[in-house]
Amino acid sequence: MSRALTRILGLGLVIGAVKGALGLLGGSLSLMADGLLGLGEGGAALVALLHHGIGAARPDRDHPYGHQKLLALGALAGCVLPLFVGVEILQAALARWQGAGAAGLPVLRPGPAGWAVLALVLLAQLGLWRWSLRRAAQLASPVLQLRSRGLGLWSGASGLVLLGLVMAATRGWGRLDLLLALPVLLLLVLQCWRVIQQLLPELEDRIAIPPEAIHAAVLAVPGVLNAHDIGSRGVLGQLVFVDMHLVVDADDLPTAHRITELVEEHLEARFGPLRCNIHLEPREYASDRITFHGAHG
Ligand SMILES: [Zn+2]
Ligand SMILES: [Zn+2]
Repeated sequence: MSRALTRILGLGLVIGAVKGALGLLGGSLSLMADGLLGLGEGGAALVALLHHGIGAARPDRDHPYGHQKLLALGALAGCVLPLFVGVEILQAALARWQGAGAAGLPVLRPGPAGWAVLALVLLAQLGLWRWSLRRAAQLASPVLQLRSRGLGLWSGASGLVLLGLVMAATRGWGRLDLLLALPVLLLLVLQCWRVIQQLLPELEDRIAIPPEAIHAAVLAVPGVLNAHDIGSRGVLGQLVFVDMHLVVDADDLPTAHRITELVEEHLEARFGPLRCNIHLEPREYASDRITFHGAHG
């Protein structure tokens, strides 16, 4: 699935960039908005990779806490930058509309080569969509299904934009280019809003697992007397960081250590990949404050 998402990310960015460049060269606002939608699709694929791409965010020497935030920031940029450009396009569309006057607007008339490139890009896009649909069915992956739906929407919008360009060129309707940019930009805003909502928990270090659930799982381990000041962050299913204070029924280090290992195994079996930092405390430090208060430093 990671490979499929990476391919969607790469091809989405390339197709989006080609469209954006063509739109910029030809002065077509709807084509530029269409290209932005591709960049946004890339951002959405990056988020999917962040949450489900196994192995994508593994830690290394320079990033001992993994690459999850890096991916989240990349996805945020992949979404927010197109939004900024989208606002620019909207302003340009308004200015052109007002400045059109009685003479109407100049119409984009790409030569045969231009039309061929536009058609080829749309074909590549449709191919990517079909391929993602097939992969989603093969892997029975709801994540890929969601992404292929996004690609389908984008292809539909692109088809509409191309149709609009043909109509504008044959009938001389210069304003069609401005009108078509609007629904595409609306689609972009919706897409970005969804991605940002998915990213916020990771970027703000929100809890990844409810402390009560961790508490219950930890107390089920034999030898554990008390757990408190429990915190967690990260992405569930990818890598979660858990820390807690623990009181165990042992007076020697080897036994106490064995219990902490059991706790870690138990949590990992229950919640998936995680890294657990356990602060061992003597019995009189036992506390009923499950969630983090920083009671004992
Ligand atoms: Zn150890
Ligand atoms: Zn404590």
